[in-house]
Amino acid sequence: MPTKIIFGCGKAKTLKAHIPHGISNILVVTDPTSFQESGARQLILEQLVDYTLRVFDEVEENPSFESLEKGAALARETQTQLIIGVGGGSPMDAAKGIATLAVNGGSMKEYIEEADFESEPLPVICLSTTSGTGSEVTPYAVFTDLEQGKKMCLAHPKIYPQCSIVDPELTYSMPESICVNTGLDALSHAMEACLSTISHPMIDALAFQSMQMVLDNLEDAANNQKGARNIMAYASMLAGICISQTSTILLHIMAYPLTIYHGIPHGKANAILMPAFLRFMEQRSTSTEKLDRILAIFAKRGGAAAFISNMGIDCRLASYGITPNSFEKFASDTIVKDDIHITPAKVTKQDIIDLYNHAYT
Ligand code: NAP
Ligand code: ZN
Repeated sequence: MPTKIIFGCGKAKTLKAHIPHGISNILVVTDPTSFQESGARQLILEQLVDYTLRVFDEVEENPSFESLEKGAALARETQTQLIIGVGGGSPMDAAKGIATLAVNGGSMKEYIEEADFESEPLPVICLSTTSGTGSEVTPYAVFTDLEQGKKMCLAHPKIYPQCSIVDPELTYSMPESICVNTGLDALSHAMEACLSTISHPMIDALAFQSMQMVLDNLEDAANNQKGARNIMAYASMLAGICISQTSTILLHIMAYPLTIYHGIPHGKANAILMPAFLRFMEQRSTSTEKLDRILAIFAKRGGAAAFISNMGIDCRLASYGITPNSFEKFASDTIVKDDIHITPAKVTKQDIIDLYNHAYT
């Protein structure tokens, strides 16, 4: 994982020191709320007065290919040499996508399908304002294809951010629901990474540490306790390092249709399906020892379903107006994803439909 990580309260104030020599034109890629409310806007504008700075703040949640193209056009027009991605997973992923498109032109969809592009992307520095995706330390960027209604992930070692500043103070402004949703995303990452068939003991160690931290701190973080928010920023970064080596597995790819077709936020979508997923793993996982450890961690909180429901999330798909008529389509979208093959169980399309049915009521 080649990204240089600067972690700690107040570290966003050191941004200037991490900008490589010779850079003068910088593009900040962000979204309006997180940029302003996290305090990043003021910190960045104050520090970077000596640079030619432009701000592209049109990144939407689950960024579309269209936004990337707009941002890349601006980067080219302004001869951008460095991109700073500020926000949650959406702006940080958009920063990676814009850095790639700005120098390669062409279409992001093609690069995703071919899993390659020609020229080295512009360097990216990330400042995370949510504690969930771990995008600040991953070689992934997730986009929405509005035409086909699906999420597509660019996975390439050249899109790791060059440097990421994880300053927990930037997360203090997250409202409770975003804190909970993103925190449960981090929990899914840690859990899925260690269950993945390509995990290894170093990843397992970080993943279990991360899971324990989320279970011990998410409730206090949601209640705005700063110490707990600091730990969540650390835990989600650890979980990001884990998936940078393993990717996620069945739970994440099953959750994508909930976001695409029903607008459920990414982390919440994972949380809704988590109890049914764990039940499926109990029946079928080949990774029994790790699964037992995961279940034991949850057991101290009354089990996964109780923990998630205690965080205010209803795990019944029926409560979100999702009906079983959709499950065939959801399963068709899921079964074609590569991450099926690193899930520690043989998974059929019918298994996926059954799993959605278990999460229905
Ligand atoms: P997000 O979509 O980046 O942001 C969600 C909401 O949080 C937005 O409404 C945003 O506000 C608000 N927000 C962010 N930080 C805030 C702050 N400090 N204070 C107040 N509001 C704040 O959420 P996310 O869960 O972090 O990212 C989800 C995306 O990341 C999805 O597209 C998902 O697929 C992707 N993802 C990527 C990876 C990876 O490795 N690259 C891994 C997992 C998930 P505004 O938009 O209104 O400004
Ligand atoms: Zn995720």
